[in-house]
Amino acid sequence: MKPIYDICIVGGGVTGACLASYLGKSALKVAVIERNLNEKDRIVGELLQPGGVEMLEKMGLEHLLDGFDAQSVDGYALFMKGESFEIGYPEKDGKRYAGRGFRNGKFVQKLRAYMQAQKNVTVIEGTVNELLETDKRIVGVSYTTPRAVEAKEITATLTIVCDGIFSTFRNTLSVPNKSVTGFFLGLILKDCQLPYPNHGHVIIAESSPILMYPVSSTETRILVDFRGIKVPPKREELQNYLTSSIAPQLPSSVQSSFLKSVEEGKFKLMPNHRMAANPNLKQGAVLIGDSLNMRHPLTGGGMTVAFSDVYLLGSLLMKMKNPKRGTQWERVVRQFYESRNQQTATINILADALYGVMGNKELKEACFNYLKRSGSYSQEPITILSAISRDSNLLIKHFFAVALFGIKGILMPIPTVTKAKRSLSLLSNSVRIIYPLLRNEKMLRLQNLRQFIVKY
Ligand SMILES: Cc1cc2nc3c(=O)[nH]c(=O)nc-3n(C[C@H](O)[C@H](O)[C@H](O)COP(=O)(O)OP(=O)(O)OC[C@H]3O[C@@H](n4cnc5c(N)ncnc54)[C@H](O)[C@@H]3O)c2cc1C
Repeated sequence: MKPIYDICIVGGGVTGACLASYLGKSALKVAVIERNLNEKDRIVGELLQPGGVEMLEKMGLEHLLDGFDAQSVDGYALFMKGESFEIGYPEKDGKRYAGRGFRNGKFVQKLRAYMQAQKNVTVIEGTVNELLETDKRIVGVSYTTPRAVEAKEITATLTIVCDGIFSTFRNTLSVPNKSVTGFFLGLILKDCQLPYPNHGHVIIAESSPILMYPVSSTETRILVDFRGIKVPPKREELQNYLTSSIAPQLPSSVQSSFLKSVEEGKFKLMPNHRMAANPNLKQGAVLIGDSLNMRHPLTGGGMTVAFSDVYLLGSLLMKMKNPKRGTQWERVVRQFYESRNQQTATINILADALYGVMGNKELKEACFNYLKRSGSYSQEPITILSAISRDSNLLIKHFFAVALFGIKGILMPIPTVTKAKRSLSLLSNSVRIIYPLLRNEKMLRLQNLRQFIVKY
């Protein structure tokens, strides 16, 4: 049976809607099935790093960041024990790179409106319940719509699954190794004055990090981290904790809007996952977005990974010389899986490495003091955080430089046996943080190690 569509996209969130928008430039016949096309109020995906903006520019989609009160983000400010400093995003030709802060729901609706306007894209509101398989090949999907009881089917040469964080289909298309590293509690602060306007704020608090960034001209998002797999306590206990333990650690200009927001109690909780990409090659289907790969949201890297993947996969699909030949599609999928980590490894490693650092008292102090030295100590790391640079060797260099800086801080001015033991423990903790992340991203190959040694 001849497929009706070239491509069927499962999920019209950030990844799916962006991919359909990009494929709108091609002659490929695309269907998108999204469970709920209404605007959602979510606490995820609200700070887009400059590297993500750059990806949208490459796809000719940067105009989708305009017209819905998105705010320019020009760098980061770090806070610890009453001290703070700023790290601006890198510059190019005298102009600073900028990220964007926005309400996730508004951005997704902007992407969806654009994909719906594409002639070759058909958007259906429905829930995909099953991937259809014939002769070990995915040939389309079965779905139900909100209005009809009976299931319908769509056939396509390639089914692209981007059904997000709670993906139904990742078990069929990959061998996921998913873990929850903690929870983010999100609140909106109204009309609050950030100490560093138009900056992401990272507060290295006693327990865990706190993030803040502007998401509209009148709203600031705050995310409070709860480390570990234990679900944070119930509403009243949470309110007490936020008021008594978190509020005093926030900059004074933010505290009154924070307390007001806690009192209103409109907070949302989301689990934070770590999941390395581990796809199965399955004919007729490919995974992309959070359904394929997740990292801690501390560094706001998820959408940048998604857009890097969309750009890679979309470009490979549009470059196919003869889409009629089935083998071409298989080749594209293989090439996508094999080459994506050149663009995504640094974002993934940095996110979980930094979260690991934030969980270790000595390492987080070393990290704060290392970045405070400014110059290349902060400028090179911020090129990685912003995803302007995807140089994993540079990331590894700074990670171990922070560890050595921490060791120096422990040993000075007079080394003792106790201090030597603490230093060894700091070093082994650092290795314990970074080693599994490098392994997940396949960075422990001899060829990568050789490259690192030659460079540094
Ligand atoms: C607390 C938190 C904060 C974050 N903050 C940031 C940030 O500041 N910056 C950043 O870059 N990233 C951030 N991220 C990560 C970012 O949100 C994700 O990387 C991004 O949303 C992934 O997009 P997606 O389209 O793959 O998944 P989603 O955004 O989850 O979209 C999946 C879509 O698929 C649809 N769907 C699901 N199942 C079906 C089905 N069976 N049939 C039809 N449709 C279906 C859903 O309705 C949804 O629209 C954060 C993540 C968390 C958890």
